[in-house]
Amino acid sequence: MKPFEYFRPTTLEDAYKLLNQYGDKASILNGGTDLIVRMREGHSEPEAVVDIKQIESLRAIRVSEDEIFIGACVLLNELGSHPEIRKKVPFLAQAALSVGSKQVRNRATCVGNICNASPLADTATPLLALDADVHVYGDEGVKQIPLKHFFVFVRKTALKQGEIVTGISFKIDGASLGIFQKISRRKEVDLSTVCGTVVRADGAYRVSFGAVAPTPIRLTETEAYLSSKPLSPETVEAACEIAKGEVSPIGDIRASKAYREDMVAVVLKQALSEWL
Ligand SMILES: Cc1cc2nc3c(=O)[nH]c(=O)nc-3n(C[C@H](O)[C@H](O)[C@H](O)COP(=O)(O)OP(=O)(O)OC[C@H]3O[C@@H](n4cnc5c(N)ncnc54)[C@H](O)[C@@H]3O)c2cc1C
Repeated sequence: MKPFEYFRPTTLEDAYKLLNQYGDKASILNGGTDLIVRMREGHSEPEAVVDIKQIESLRAIRVSEDEIFIGACVLLNELGSHPEIRKKVPFLAQAALSVGSKQVRNRATCVGNICNASPLADTATPLLALDADVHVYGDEGVKQIPLKHFFVFVRKTALKQGEIVTGISFKIDGASLGIFQKISRRKEVDLSTVCGTVVRADGAYRVSFGAVAPTPIRLTETEAYLSSKPLSPETVEAACEIAKGEVSPIGDIRASKAYREDMVAVVLKQALSEWL
């Protein structure tokens, strides 16, 4: 690994100053379970690493009557075991606990999972289906970016140079009616071959999938179809066909393109069958 300067600021303002001082030569370190692997493999060679884990304000999960906020440095194990998260959005807790191993989740964060912008990030599909917003600190103060606009391409987000994600929030109206599924070759410590979440809220459906396009995506045509018809075995079948047409997976070491397309239909059908 190439040598680098290591900084551990305790305030957002100091972190932001450091990030701007080093420009595109700086990387944010959160849990490090993606960044350090990439640095070891030479895919990322920052001159400065800004560790944000000592910034106290980034560590909280805040639950109000109708909204949940997950701070940037909340660990995946903390998220997955939080009583209110388990009660109000159990499918998000399940997705958090499906990442890697217990050891990985004791370092890794949900926000790191999102900022890494992998097409198969496991916490992305529940958060997309929850219509989550990403809170970003930067030149413009704190702004919010809808998660569906945050993912730009493989490993590319809408963040500008030096911006720091402070957390993710979402409304929880009826959102606990959601189902997350992960298809992987092994039960544990394996990346998703396909993952997906279906949320039902106010008679409408929100459908999101990972590992089937360059970014995690919402299947808007499938959602529009489902929300326009009463749910029946026939509409479920038709929705699965629409969903298969909306994804554009690649074939790789984990699965072929055709397998991934078929799994989109399987995951969607299993979820919708719960509400038939
Ligand atoms: C053995 C192993 C198994 C894994 N299994 C899975 C799996 O099953 N599913 C899965 O989805 N992932 C998996 N991962 C990947 C990884 O653990 C997750 O993506 C994790 O959630 C990343 O979080 P982190 O806090 O470690 O991020 P980091 O590595 O610290 O950061 C990741 C990226 O996000 C940026 N970043 C982090 N925080 C912020 C912020 N607040 N603002 C702006 N940018 C930020 C960093 O600069 C970096 O580019 C695995 C990794 C390992 C090593």
